Amino acid sequence: MLVVAEKEIGGLMTPEAAFQAVEAVFAAMASGKAYNFPVVREAIGHEDALYGFKGGFDGAALTLGLKAGGYWPNNQKHNLINHQSTIFLFDADTGRVAAAVGGNLLTALRTAAASAVSIKYLAPKGAKVLGMIGAGHQSAFQMRAAAAVHSFDKVIGWNPHPEMLTRLADTAADLGLPFEAVDLPTLGEQADVIISITSAFSPLLLDQHVKRPTHIAAMGTDTKGKQELDPALVARARVFTDEIAQSISIGEAQHAIAAGLITEGDITQIGAVVNGSHEGRGTAEVTLFDGTGVGLQDLAVAAKVLELAKAKGIAQSVEI
Ligand code: NAD
Repeated sequence: MLVVAEKEIGGLMTPEAAFQAVEAVFAAMASGKAYNFPVVREAIGHEDALYGFKGGFDGAALTLGLKAGGYWPNNQKHNLINHQSTIFLFDADTGRVAAAVGGNLLTALRTAAASAVSIKYLAPKGAKVLGMIGAGHQSAFQMRAAAAVHSFDKVIGWNPHPEMLTRLADTAADLGLPFEAVDLPTLGEQADVIISITSAFSPLLLDQHVKRPTHIAAMGTDTKGKQELDPALVARARVFTDEIAQSISIGEAQHAIAAGLITEGDITQIGAVVNGSHEGRGTAEVTLFDGTGVGLQDLAVAAKVLELAKAKGIAQSVEI
């Protein structure tokens, strides 16, 4: 099998290549050529960690495999980021393991690419202000990917831990955009596009905060019990997701579904918009992308990395 080390990923993969891989796999999912396996995600009762597996099979690209890993919230004491994962690819013809690819940077790139796909297709016309809720590791990737697909004039941001807001300010400065720290009502009132990427377990952005045509990419909720949005806001929005089965069980929609405010039938796969089989925003005032993170995203970016690593001769070969 081939191994592509985490330290090599930055030199191989670009945000643009991640965007293309994720946009294509979302389209393949919506046209029934690719599917995700049920997610395993467990609170292991050690270090407050959430550990699990996300896998799938893309029958068009013949990409088969899984990502194993999760979220260790106390990793700062080890000088490591909280998200830790590895992606394993298998030969779809034989079942032999084909590659192990470092998954940390790829997770950030594929997660940012997912919200960027939603922004490309669903942002209100003339959107100028990007609102960021969350200032952790993923937030900078999210802001960069959003700015790559849409031209914003300004970034505003809020985070439950204000001392982390420097990450948003620095990233905006790097992108040449002014940044302002605001409270949540102001963020909801002024932002045309909102990205939420926190580890919240109760609503942050409330229905009454959002007062204009807005697209919200809710990216933090990827586990049962997590929540960033008021269910009433989810119910008001036209809801899109990466994978409906995940949206209703581990995504932001789980709460609006449990409260009986929406049904599974109210949620559309974003790939249908990419394919042109769904109109997208239409006349909706608020659109929501419930980004739960699917295994096929991981496999798509890992397959691209493997192709690039082979071409550059930097994949290590090991016998298994
Ligand atoms: P991080 O640990 O670097 O940052 C955590 C963020 O959440 C910070 O903004 C922090 O202030 C905030 N936060 C922490 N505890 C909170 C609480 N109790 N209530 C509200 N906010 C809280 O994490 P990260 O790597 O930036 O990831 C952020 C979130 O995104 C995580 O929940 C992670 O599981 C999720 N995530 C989702 C996907 C996906 O595909 N949807 C992919 C990667 C990460």
